[in-house]
Amino acid sequence: MSETKKFKTETKRLLDLMINSIYTNKEIFLRELISNASDAIDKYHYMSLTDNKLEAKDYEIRITPNKEERTLTISDNGIGMTHDELVDHLGTIAKSGSLEFMKKMEENKDIDIIGQFGVGFYSAFMVAKKVVVKTKSPFDDKAYSFTSEGTDSYKLDEIEKNDTGTEITLYLRDNNSDENYDIYLEQYKLEGLVKKYSDYVRYPIKMMCKRMNPTYDEEGKFKESVETLEDTTLNSMIPLWKKNKSEVKEEDLNSFYKQKFNDYENPLFSMHVNVEGNLTYNALIFIPKKVPYDLYSDQYEKGLQLYTKGVFIMDKCKELIPDYLKFVKGLVDSADLSLNISREILQQNKQLTLISKNIEKKIITELSKTMKNDYDKYKEFFKSYGVYLKYGIYENYGEKKDDLKDLLVYKTVNEEDYISLKTYVNHMKDNQKYIYYASASNKEQVLSMPQLDLLKKKGYDCLILSDGVDEFTMSILNKYEDYELKNINQGDLDILDEDEKKELETKQEDNKDFLEAVKKSLDGKVSDVILSKRLVDSPVCLTSKDGLSFEMQKVLNAIPNGSDAKAEKVLEINPNHELFNALKKAYANNELDDYVDLLYNQALLMEGFPIENPVEFSNKMCKLMISNLK
Ligand code: ADP
Repeated sequence: MSETKKFKTETKRLLDLMINSIYTNKEIFLRELISNASDAIDKYHYMSLTDNKLEAKDYEIRITPNKEERTLTISDNGIGMTHDELVDHLGTIAKSGSLEFMKKMEENKDIDIIGQFGVGFYSAFMVAKKVVVKTKSPFDDKAYSFTSEGTDSYKLDEIEKNDTGTEITLYLRDNNSDENYDIYLEQYKLEGLVKKYSDYVRYPIKMMCKRMNPTYDEEGKFKESVETLEDTTLNSMIPLWKKNKSEVKEEDLNSFYKQKFNDYENPLFSMHVNVEGNLTYNALIFIPKKVPYDLYSDQYEKGLQLYTKGVFIMDKCKELIPDYLKFVKGLVDSADLSLNISREILQQNKQLTLISKNIEKKIITELSKTMKNDYDKYKEFFKSYGVYLKYGIYENYGEKKDDLKDLLVYKTVNEEDYISLKTYVNHMKDNQKYIYYASASNKEQVLSMPQLDLLKKKGYDCLILSDGVDEFTMSILNKYEDYELKNINQGDLDILDEDEKKELETKQEDNKDFLEAVKKSLDGKVSDVILSKRLVDSPVCLTSKDGLSFEMQKVLNAIPNGSDAKAEKVLEINPNHELFNALKKAYANNELDDYVDLLYNQALLMEGFPIENPVEFSNKMCKLMISNLK
């Protein structure tokens, strides 16, 4: 019996798509066919559990290249297909050929649909000009072959085949200047492809392989290498991540990590995740001990490897990990994903989004646990990657701030070790209303800041920020528990008690004209001149108004083509310092300008800003020294 049938229109269009291949890596056809074979064995095995007509057997998938014929055969001893199944599954796009499918395909929007419609088999046409499927189902007395040369129709023939299962033979396309299809007949290539894409398929993938074996003489000396043909299993079958957590030792994870991610050091963190239920996936997650050398570069690609049912899909699936965790390495194997053919699909895949959220949560939990149980290890982590957590808080208008804020640790003025915000709050003085911070590269620098005067006197602690992103993170965080975060050189520190405040307000009022004159003398360089509420020992300082801080200004201005935004400067004068009275004398004598200018420039220097006119500054200093030394 032989019949010729026409492909459904949509199927033919899909076939054409494959023939005029939209894939750049055609090699994945092998992965698709092996995956189908594995599914077919799954089905057989599952049925054999309840149906005594099906006996259990040694399952295998076999690859047979034939260089003379230029064919590649992939066979399995799985469930096979009945006549009707052949027509339904290979003659039609598996799950109904709805118009919507083609529409979506053409819009290129949600290509995920391709997987659902079972395009896998058709990928064979990317490398084959003719495909012959021979199959025998235990539910059909007869066996059949399906032959297609990629034209409008396909042929079905009754054949002799006793063993259940399916054998798919690809007649490779002719080589051309762009593509060498013969490569798919080479042992090393096939071995490589299986290792790359199908290493963890749970049935053995076998092939007859040539091996060079050494032979020895009677004395045990090497004689020669002899080529032998051996039946070889190409895949390692049981993936580490599918094993039960309790079976996997830390050494296993370490050596797996080093091999897979080309590191010579053990990872700082490794996590083995088995999730079952609504969402089912296994994952291995690692944080390298050494910061990847290219992590800061634009070329760095974040992502986790993606597998589905042990079949490799892609190397760096960026949808699996948020930007701020880009240093995390690892892999995810989900049974719920179909084998997709394009990266675009993944962006809209809801399953992936859920897995990604879940993994993110697990990493955060693991980090908090480490923070509690092994603080030294946590600090090691934070020194390398803390800055990314800060970005994480800053990103997306603080969307993640509640999840991440407790993972932050800082050096502070009062404490020897890094502390968390929680510890800071626990150590706060009785009347202290805010959490204070200052930007500086080290503790000494903060200690020398005039703005710290009053805090020091009161014994209040101050966080030391030294990453460019720090103040941005602080401004997004805004508060920790009920305490506002305050930059010590910005705005009102609100430290004075009521009496002190009143006293200062009266003084401010009394010196209104003087302060006004200082401001005028500075000619627009500062937006305000006030009596300081934060200085104790130092004569003056520059602060910024609430909003953009000096540090933020420096960071923003340093970005190439970044903004040239300016913080609003306020000159603060200490009313209790000798200099205040001296300045007032100068004001009375109409000699204010030079002194104010010197003072302002000094304040700029203390803030790490360049002074505007160094020569003029130096001349004025000289003049002052001369008049003093006379
Ligand atoms: P998918 O595997 O995504 O369903 P395919 O186009 O790869 O799509 O395959 C379509 C259908 O053909 C499969 O669902 C299966 O029913 C059948 N099929 C393909 N390969 C085999 C095989 N080796 N053994 C048995 N059935 C197969």
